[in-house]
Amino acid sequence: MIHRKASYLYRTDRYQWLSEKKARAKQLEKLKKIIEYAYSHSRFYRDTFDRAGVKPSDLKNFDDIRKFPLTSKETIRENLDSVLTVKRNSRRLKFIKTSGSCGDAMEIVYSNRSWDYTSAVYARNLFAMGYKPWQKIAFYWEPDPVFIKHATAFYHKIGIMKKCWIYSTDPPEKQLNLIASLNPPVIIGFPSSLKLLCRLIRENSYKSAITPNMIVSSFEVLSEETRTFIEETFNAPVYNWYTSTEFMGMAGECQKRSGLHINTDSIFVEILKNGANLREGGSGELVVTGLEMEAMPLIRYQLKDYGVLSSERCSCGRNLPLLTSLEGRNDDFILLKNGEFIGPRSIVGLMDKAVLYNGQVKNFRVIQKAESKVVVKVVRDSNFHAGTLTEIRRVLSGLFKNLMDIEIISVEVIEKNRRGKLRFVISELDKNLWRI
Ligand SMILES: [Zn+2]
Repeated sequence: MIHRKASYLYRTDRYQWLSEKKARAKQLEKLKKIIEYAYSHSRFYRDTFDRAGVKPSDLKNFDDIRKFPLTSKETIRENLDSVLTVKRNSRRLKFIKTSGSCGDAMEIVYSNRSWDYTSAVYARNLFAMGYKPWQKIAFYWEPDPVFIKHATAFYHKIGIMKKCWIYSTDPPEKQLNLIASLNPPVIIGFPSSLKLLCRLIRENSYKSAITPNMIVSSFEVLSEETRTFIEETFNAPVYNWYTSTEFMGMAGECQKRSGLHINTDSIFVEILKNGANLREGGSGELVVTGLEMEAMPLIRYQLKDYGVLSSERCSCGRNLPLLTSLEGRNDDFILLKNGEFIGPRSIVGLMDKAVLYNGQVKNFRVIQKAESKVVVKVVRDSNFHAGTLTEIRRVLSGLFKNLMDIEIISVEVIEKNRRGKLRFVISELDKNLWRI
């Protein structure tokens, strides 16, 4: 529906320039509406709200949201049919699978209407970086025909916001050839794929053949070291986006790059620590309510990502608040014996700088096996030498405060998940440690 898409583009653009007070009022209105809708149309939410003794009318201000129960991927997946407010065979729906592997993937159901809204928010994130609609986009994704069909709109076919798909599961050499032949002004991809691509570009003389105006790092955490490495390779700015299959575009940097603007007209974000809602400034777990997802309401959904909400406002003038740091998924954190958590962002940043960018290792994964034990898997590269292992040990021992026994093993390959995402850090510790 062209007029609906156009109207959402207009509305989402207008929203970001409203006064903060007006934007907050609109957000509260949407929050009340989706809570009410979920209660009256979804058996799952009616039951869970009733069990918790809360009614939609109890929500009078943002703080009241705490009265409503949290939801997790596990509970939503187990109760999917009663969560949905629509019949699955409706033609007005889009089904998107989350990237989880080992049987924990989940289907997210969008109505065509909410998909259009999500697309408008995605476009706003692009425009905030100075993107022009006629610029071609090289878009990293898995070779998933269903998603690609949903994400290809009629206007892409006539060259507006056109996406060219780069399969993250293809070998980097193949990705590089395709990107070199397209020379796209915009590249949107996983930082793990982009950094391997950059290494290949540096090793070969492709640098002058690929001249993007901007690059977006999405779907995984971005360390500052990785950002610099990609920027220096392409001589173009890297913007950080926070996205998920559940909510699509959640936050993104504008040209000022002083944090990620949260799309508060499509999501309501809380930051929780030890069961309490944090105000700005503290690091905690992100709990998100989708404001435009009437087919499959996700209310107070635990994404298991950690981040920091900023009290600063961006000098660009947008009212959208900022996430200043995205630390990563909670099961990608290393827990030290002294109770301290080390996020994947700092581990990946240090390891990249010490041994990946200079060609000593091709790839790596740090796995916490027990309270005081980590195993580091490395794929050796051309510059690998005896000192590489000492260097890895030195870097990680420092970061882990000498509290870890570190075992390093060489492997042929580090497996990616179905979507081509690569987890660099994995904790195998009991997830109950992460009770929030
Ligand atoms: Zn800004």
